[in-house]
This record gives sequence, structure tokens and C-alpha cells, in this order.
Amino acid sequence: MIDAIVIGGGPAGLQAALTLGRMHRQVMLFDSGEYRNATVDHAQNLITHDGRAPAELRRLAREDLAGYATVRIVETEVHAVEARDDGGFAAMTDDGAFAASVLILATGLRDELPPIPGLAAAWGREVAHCPFCHGHELSGKRIGILGSGAHAAAHRAMLAPIGSAVVVIDPDEVTAVEPTDDGLVVRRRDGDSTEVGGLFVAPTSTQRSPFAAQLGLATLPSGGVEVDPMGRTSLPGVFAAGDMAHTAAMPGPMASLAVAIAAGQLAAAAAVHQLAARELGAQRGAVS
Ligand SMILES: Cc1cc2nc3c(=O)[nH]c(=O)nc-3n(C[C@H](O)[C@H](O)[C@H](O)COP(=O)(O)OP(=O)(O)OC[C@H]3O[C@@H](n4cnc5c(N)ncnc54)[C@H](O)[C@@H]3O)c2cc1C
Repeated sequence: MIDAIVIGGGPAGLQAALTLGRMHRQVMLFDSGEYRNATVDHAQNLITHDGRAPAELRRLAREDLAGYATVRIVETEVHAVEARDDGGFAAMTDDGAFAASVLILATGLRDELPPIPGLAAAWGREVAHCPFCHGHELSGKRIGILGSGAHAAAHRAMLAPIGSAVVVIDPDEVTAVEPTDDGLVVRRRDGDSTEVGGLFVAPTSTQRSPFAAQLGLATLPSGGVEVDPMGRTSLPGVFAAGDMAHTAAMPGPMASLAVAIAAGQLAAAAAVHQLAARELGAQRGAVS
């Protein structure tokens, strides 16, 4: 049995593996290659990497990890996880089952967009959900918000200092979204259309993996896995980090690279403390 299994090769999982590797813990990181920001060419709001392609960030992170002999990355999907009788955890893959003393889940979320033709093709470029990530790039342009109610009003207020104008568009009125040289044209049922530099939408986001359900982890009204500030879930020995988890004090995940990285580090640090505490306990037991 190795020390830790990390499931997820996004920023949360990669950082967790780095922190564990630096503490010379045996780690296996499983990555099925399904990243939430897979369609994004440029990610913003990460100090020293503002504007860097997410794929390049992952490549650089893997380059860092290659310097740590105890970290192994496995490009495969984990089908199931389970708690073992010996207190450890097992991850099942096509290549067999792998066991570890602790488990760090960093499997992220998947997004479902409103079923409007053209929206998915522009997702991560002209269409996004996070003003902190993709607002500034629309400076001085007309910005569209697809939505209604308090969520749309909040986005409108946040984006007002950035755009030349911010228009809220009812998704039920939209028939299609088409690319232009400088953004998008939003076509409406009444035949009218609105040109915008970019469009913000609120996707429906759900857990990408079934592991929280398989392990019976406590979840929050957002659908996120409940963790304490150190990334501990309701099941001792299982930690969660990144978009898939947040504390009860937050209304939802602050889905960003920086927060996912921080959460990955916290979860790994808590996992190292737990491993060390168990080892200390075992040594004391052996002496007495
Ligand atoms: C369109 C878009 C634009 C964004 N732009 C920005 C931005 O500009 N700046 C910013 O800070 N944030 C941005 N974000 C948010 C950011 O991408 C996420 O917060 C971040 O990727 C979350 O990292 P994560 O590690 O939690 O999950 P992810 O990056 O989604 O990684 C999940 C990992 O888990 C793996 N996985 C899942 N299930 C399994 C399984 N069963 N077996 C093995 N592996 C599995 C996946 O393959 C993947 O490796 C954007 C998000 C979106 C959707």
C-alpha cells in the first residue's frame, strides 16, 4: 500500500501531488484528461501566469512533478473507489486496483450549458461564466449576460466598470449565438439581435466523478463535497480539493486556478499530517 492516491490532474490534484512529493510520500496521481477548462485558450487571474494557456500550466506542473521520485502520474480513469477494512482506500482502474493509506479527490466539475445553438462552440472563449477570469478581456466592449434575477443583476453590477455597456438577455428569448469578427451576435426569437464582445452564462455544474457518492461523503446544497478548511471530508482519510469541494461557510466553490491550487496544497498538507500522526501512533504502540 502506498501513502496517497490523488484522483485528478487539474490544478488541485497537481498541487496536491507536488506537496506530497516534496514530503517524500509515495503518490499515484490518476488523470482521465477531462479538464473543466479544456476549451480555454488563455486563463487569467493567476499571479505570474496571467493569460497562460491552461494546457501549458498543466505541462509545466508535470515538469515540476518529474523532479520528485515518489510521484507517479497514471493517465487513466478511475472507475470506482472504496474504503478498505485495513483503514486504507482502493482505486479501481482498467489496469487493476491500487491501494493507499489516504485518498485525495480533485476530480472537478462538469458544466452543462443552456441548449442554445452556438453557445458550446464559444465556451471558454467568447462565452464564459466567471467575470474575474474573463471580464477584463472585454474592456470597453458591450458585454452580454445570459440570465435573469439576482445572479444576472450581480454580474451586471460587477461588469459595469469594465464594459462600455452591459446587457442582460433572457435565455428563453435567444435562438442562437453566432461568432463575429469581434465577439458574438445573439439572435432573438423576435428577429432582433444584439452584438456583444462576450457573453456570460450560468452553466449547471455537477460532480465529474461518482466518488463522493460511492464513499457516502457529506455534501452541501451546492452539490459540492463538504470539507473543513484543511480539505478533510466527512470520512477520515479522504480529502477533497478544487472545484468539487468547499467549506460550509462558502455558498459554492470559488472556482479558480489559484483557489484550486491552494486547496490542493492544504489537502495534501493535512494528509501528510495524518500519515505522520498514524506512524507516530504505530511507533508508540510498538514501544509500549
Ligand atoms: C470556461 C472556463 C474558463 C475558466 N477560466 C478561468 C480563468 O481564466 N482563471 C481561473 O483562475 N480559473 C478559470 N476557470 C476555473 C478553473 O478552470 C477551475 O477552477 C479549475 O480548473 C479547477 O481545478 P480542479 O483541479 O478542481 O478541476 P479540473 O481542472 O476540472 O480537473 C479535474 C481532474 O480530475 C480528473 N478526473 C475526473 N474524474 C476522474 C476519474 N474518474 N478518474 C481519473 N481522473 C478523473 C480529470 O481528468 C482532471 O484531470 C475557468 C473555468 C471554465 C469552465
